[in-house]
Amino acid sequence: LRKRIIRAEKMEAVSHLAASISHEIRNPLTAARGFMQLLEQHHLSPEKRKQYVRIAIEELDRAEAIITDYLTFAKPAPESVEKLNVKTEIERVIDLLRPLANMNSVEVKTTLAPFTITGEREKFRQCLLNIMKNAIEAMPNGGVLQIYVSIEKQHVLIRISDTGIGMTKEQIERLGEPYFTTKGIKGTGLGMMVVYRIIESMNGTIHIESEIHKGTEVSIYLPLSSNFHNLTNEEKKLFMAL
Ligand code: ADP
Ligand code: MG
Repeated sequence: LRKRIIRAEKMEAVSHLAASISHEIRNPLTAARGFMQLLEQHHLSPEKRKQYVRIAIEELDRAEAIITDYLTFAKPAPESVEKLNVKTEIERVIDLLRPLANMNSVEVKTTLAPFTITGEREKFRQCLLNIMKNAIEAMPNGGVLQIYVSIEKQHVLIRISDTGIGMTKEQIERLGEPYFTTKGIKGTGLGMMVVYRIIESMNGTIHIESEIHKGTEVSIYLPLSSNFHNLTNEEKKLFMAL
């Protein structure tokens, strides 16, 4: 029973995305501060000293990881809904992830088309970032990150696939659950929760297929912005060929 109550509280805590961020970041900062304070003691053995420094650094890394999962593209001004070019936004996020991809020997392949969707730019980028970052992290010994854009049933399809470690059925089912991570202290278990929320807010859907040791395929479907429907069939064909 106790476990269940704690989980319910956790769900409650993240139900308001913005409000939860300061809380999420404050926890590791407070912990880091605590261990720094312990370092001030005079009689500490070198081992203890080393241990406290390591924990403090881990906590600071955690605070940084949380900021990455929530706020990479955040700006001071409130966001507005606008028309977004899917190709441009994807390219922006790839640019940002290039160093991480190179570090993991991950090759990035794209088949992009400039379809228009509506949404908040920062949120959409954050969503793409969290998915692509997971894909790269699933390939520590190299592989291929593929991003494919197409149209399916009046929706823009964005398919992000990797040739990484893959997931079990149980793991797929737990995706998006707050704090679910298999990455130990390196993970926050918040990235996919943020993704699910953003896709939902954009009236989209997400579909995940994965096979252990083979890789993972994340498909996002987002409503096509209305101006596409106004094009003639000839124009649509031209547009899709871009
Ligand atoms: P984090 O990345 O901090 O662990 P996420 O919410 O982003 O948190 O992801 C949760 C978990 O889902 C990961 O720890 C991992 O086990 C699994 N996961 C997500 N994406 C992938 C992927 N592309 N390949 C394999 N596992 C994945
Ligand atoms: Mg992640």
